[in-house]
Amino acid sequence: MSKQFASHADLADKVVSFEKLSDNAYAYTAEGDPNTGVIIGDEAVMVVDTQATPVMAQDVIRRIREVTDKPIKYILLSHYHAVRVFGASAYNAQEILASRDTYDLIAERGEQDKASEIGRFPRLFRNAESIPPGLVWPTMTFKGEMTVNLGNLEVKLLQVGRGHTRGDTIAWLPEQKILFAGDLVEYQSTPYCGDAYFRDWPTTLDTLAGFEAEKMVPGRGPALTTPAACREAIGYTRSWVETLYGCARQGVEQGKSLKQVYEDTRRVMDPEFGHVVIYEHAIPFDISRAYDEASGIVDPRVWTAQRDRDMWAELTA
Ligand SMILES: [Zn+2]
Repeated sequence: MSKQFASHADLADKVVSFEKLSDNAYAYTAEGDPNTGVIIGDEAVMVVDTQATPVMAQDVIRRIREVTDKPIKYILLSHYHAVRVFGASAYNAQEILASRDTYDLIAERGEQDKASEIGRFPRLFRNAESIPPGLVWPTMTFKGEMTVNLGNLEVKLLQVGRGHTRGDTIAWLPEQKILFAGDLVEYQSTPYCGDAYFRDWPTTLDTLAGFEAEKMVPGRGPALTTPAACREAIGYTRSWVETLYGCARQGVEQGKSLKQVYEDTRRVMDPEFGHVVIYEHAIPFDISRAYDEASGIVDPRVWTAQRDRDMWAELTA
């Protein structure tokens, strides 16, 4: 059975929710599309991930302006993926914050990732012409940890380990125990693993579980508003990553080809996870990277628009 490339069959608009988690924290979510977190202090606002284009970001700004008139001073890039960074220019923020590892990934593969993701997501990038030329460059970087004060509100930016990418960063409100997880945690959606570190990701999730978050904005899926829901989302992501990587490792040990591993892995994954958002798009990329890592390729290979298409043709023919 042939199927449409990546998200090319996914063209129906999603319903946006803008949910208040506390006086300082809001979740902008859209039925499994990439989420944006909003953190509001007495003096400034921080936006965690920007949406795919400036046109999409305008809807985030409109919702922020319904709840505060404080300046949007900071953008945090939880990682380098294009669907999260290319709305940045709409906010006119004073600083764009990211881990040094994320900055390095933008320098190393930002151009290829931009072309690749625009090709994968026609709906999210339908206003791609509103994106300024070039890349979104962080103006302030950190290693490991940074604290930003938004006015009577401390926000911790933390690299707690590799997982979804090498540069993953979370935002944490320690007083309120609210976590902005980026794509390290997904809920009712598919963890994209094309640039992942499968062996590190479960350990990173253990660390996140140790935060005992009471509320969470995951990378995709609805906001989580109870400690039990936060634990469930972390457990769901762990189960996904471990199940998928276990299949790939076993296949590689048995000397199987990528195509064989793809088919075997889907037989295990489809019954449990096949119904969730963006599964059919992500699963070929996820299994490709798992196969590479199990084969000893330490760092994810760069996806280009051409490599995307070649892989798709090989696996889904
Ligand atoms: Zn991502």
